[in-house]
Amino acid sequence: MIQYANYINGEWQSSNSGKTYQSINPASINEVVGEVEYSLAEELDTAASYAKQARTDWEKLTGAARGQYLYKTADILESRLEEIAEIMTKEMGKTLPEAKGETARGVAILRYYAGEGLREEGDVIPSTDADALMLTKRAPIGVVGVITPWNFPVAIPIWKIAPALIYGNTVVFKPALEASVTAAKVIECFNEAGLPNGVVNMVNGEGEVIGQQIVDNPQINGITFTGSDKTGKIVGQGALNRGAKYQLEMGGKNPVIVTKDADIDLAVDATISGGLRSTGQKCTATSRVIIEESIYPTFTEKLLKKVKEITVGNGLHPDTWMGPSVSEKQLNTVLDYIEIGKNEGATLIHGGNRLMDNGLDQGFFVEPTIFENVTTDMRIAQEEIFGPVLALMKVKDLEEALTIANDVDFGLSASIFTTNIQKMLTFIDDMEAGMVRINAESAGVELQAPFGGMKKSSSHSREQGQAAKEFYTNIKTVFIKG
Ligand code: ADP
Repeated sequence: MIQYANYINGEWQSSNSGKTYQSINPASINEVVGEVEYSLAEELDTAASYAKQARTDWEKLTGAARGQYLYKTADILESRLEEIAEIMTKEMGKTLPEAKGETARGVAILRYYAGEGLREEGDVIPSTDADALMLTKRAPIGVVGVITPWNFPVAIPIWKIAPALIYGNTVVFKPALEASVTAAKVIECFNEAGLPNGVVNMVNGEGEVIGQQIVDNPQINGITFTGSDKTGKIVGQGALNRGAKYQLEMGGKNPVIVTKDADIDLAVDATISGGLRSTGQKCTATSRVIIEESIYPTFTEKLLKKVKEITVGNGLHPDTWMGPSVSEKQLNTVLDYIEIGKNEGATLIHGGNRLMDNGLDQGFFVEPTIFENVTTDMRIAQEEIFGPVLALMKVKDLEEALTIANDVDFGLSASIFTTNIQKMLTFIDDMEAGMVRINAESAGVELQAPFGGMKKSSSHSREQGQAAKEFYTNIKTVFIKG
């Protein structure tokens, strides 16, 4: 079995902990995909020191020169796309086409930020002094700590590491253990691209140890985090306490509103794709479906018909549309929420069970699940489940739909299906979400556009596109007197 070490100062180095973590295939739990180490907190500190040392030379390179490293990493990742996508599917369960799509997205993000090395980085601002020139300039924040989840094990690390690097920062990266082998493959690409030693470092281990040390290490100037709401709070508070910059992307409870004038077939397809692809394990996944009562029977009938056709299985199999939950813990969370939904009085109209036949007992498979008669006070209408569970809610009109859609603590993504321009405009204005999508599923993201949420979904910062610059740089206001 392959063991993946930490990557510190340009070398693969084993931890002294003597403890290993086995990354298993959630579709076939007897298969170990690879092994990483539980590192010690001081090993994170070592990585941070090297990242700090590497800062000065890296920062002094031109953006164009830094960009060349990203172009090279992109080419290497592209040449290894099939291999890395297959590992991703084996390690965290998403289907192979989705894993390939995500890896290709990683390549595109690297190229986007490579180009960023040649784009403008400031403004000239008129001074009230006639003999002065006043302008803004961007400075890197320094060493950036990157803490990532397992659900997009290529795209999320890259959409954090690539902008960090192009704006002149160095990186200490801690991936989620459940996706650590895939993460090691991404780091192999950076290594093959010949980045100077210490510019990118990766340390594996437990969130409470290595993640927490990223939060606590004073050599780390900024922390970018994607994960749960609970952990995000710990990261944000820790960073605030020691004056580090931070950026948090957390959960969602994303609604789809279907109005009576909607293209129902389109809405059904987008609800299924947005809610159930990747087994519902996206922070932008649809989890609440709010439907106007006059079309409720038609919509529900069409939805059920299509959901019944979903094939669940190993993501490597070409016929599989939906893979397993990532882990036993995640599977149990989903099954617990299904029980909670039943006990709260919601009506289960499809699924609800772990799948055990035809060899599926070898993995963490659950049926696509649909509840109706869900009310906003229910936990299944309020809390992020991160599984293939849809909650249907019937409403009289758009006004009620929007009240319900906004009646949650989260505000990441939201969709509406309508052909009425006035309803579109009302939704754009009144929906409290960072991503508002019209006639498109809730789970779509484009790398060149800002990504992030409102309310408890984020620290109100944005990732990706040009918006990434706000986190990965600090503005310097320059005043030059002639
Ligand atoms: P999920 O439920 O998706 O696993 P988590 O928030 O638990 O979400 O994990 C997201 C990332 O945060 C992972 O890399 C995890 O190891 C890390 N993490 C967990 N606990 C902490 C912590 N106390 N401090 C910093 N990072 C943590």
